[in-house]
Amino acid sequence: MTKAVFFDRDGVVNKRIVGGYVTTWDEFEWLPGVAETLRDVKDLGYLAIIITNQRGVGTGIMSEADLDLIHSQLQEHLLHDGVTFDDIISCTDATNDSARRKPSPEMLFEAARKFDIDLSQSWMIGDSPTDIEAGTRAGTKTAFLINDHEQAPPDATITLHHVHDIIAHLRP
Ligand SMILES: [Mg+2]
Repeated sequence: MTKAVFFDRDGVVNKRIVGGYVTTWDEFEWLPGVAETLRDVKDLGYLAIIITNQRGVGTGIMSEADLDLIHSQLQEHLLHDGVTFDDIISCTDATNDSARRKPSPEMLFEAARKFDIDLSQSWMIGDSPTDIEAGTRAGTKTAFLINDHEQAPPDATITLHHVHDIIAHLRP
């Protein structure tokens, strides 16, 4: 079995667009420290996987192809720094009663089945309480990235001021 660090995308990897969606690569704005964090996560023997809700596809604001293009650009840019995410798992469902959409743990379970991941040895990092809920329900440890739009949920395992701060918690 392996272990993983799951990253929410908007608000962790790239700047979250408040009240909107990243619909093109031009609107994608990196948050600091992502490539460096990814490299250290992988050096410590963890898989790195994005778990993201992308409702903009389900509501028709953007297409599945638009989303795929953003994710291939994301990986291509990271490759210049010599690292990529091991997978990017998206839920494009529009409605909150979706079986996959976070706070459902389903996308984490999918990743666990695909890569034989021990969820109890894994982490979910996010900037929303729904990320923490998904991680908790999947049985991972959880890290809430402090931000100015959401309160830290009390049940997060840890809080982070910067995404790279997770590394100290991954070391044996
Ligand atoms: Mg987010």
